[in-house]
Amino acid sequence: MLFLQHPAQRFVLQLRKQISIKKFRFTWRDFLFIGTIKTMKEYSTEAIVLQREHMGESDSRVIFYTRDFGRISAKAKSARKITSKLSAHLEPLSHIHLRLVKKGGYQITDAVRIRKLSLGVMPLIVLLAHITSDEGDDRELWSEMIRTDISAKRVLSILGFDAEYASCARCASGSPGFFLPKELIYVCRPCFSNFSDPITALLSA
Ligand SMILES: [Zn+2]
Repeated sequence: MLFLQHPAQRFVLQLRKQISIKKFRFTWRDFLFIGTIKTMKEYSTEAIVLQREHMGESDSRVIFYTRDFGRISAKAKSARKITSKLSAHLEPLSHIHLRLVKKGGYQITDAVRIRKLSLGVMPLIVLLAHITSDEGDDRELWSEMIRTDISAKRVLSILGFDAEYASCARCASGSPGFFLPKELIYVCRPCFSNFSDPITALLSA
């Protein structure tokens, strides 16, 4: 038996079929999309790169001091590949705009350099990587770190190592001129000259 369909009826049936297929696809994708969003919250902040370590074949783990979350460490996927646009922005001393997602730990999604801090700030970078814990932000410390006239003396004071009340950890003489970021002690100039660890970064406080 021949089944005849009016063109308009055929059109409506075709349209329904398309809508139902699209609806199905949309619902399915949407479900996946919402699932992804739910497990990945995105964050945006400014940060200073403190330290960068290799991880596996091409990934990096980067330690930051951030404006909003204090010290954090985050994974950069494929950041060591030459083609990675992230790579150049994740060198220590870089002051950057940072975007992250939290998926278990933090993962870097984007980084754009604002400027590079001067090489003279490196001992402070070593100090922050060494001393600050992964909890809470410190706006006073952040404000000092991004000043163009950053002062080691002020940073040490904010961190509770005020030079004014310090004495040499070796000979107890007053007004010691040097702070050892890894040992977290002040030493005077004569004691400093006896200090033979070449790896230790030193600050004139
Ligand atoms: Zn001394």
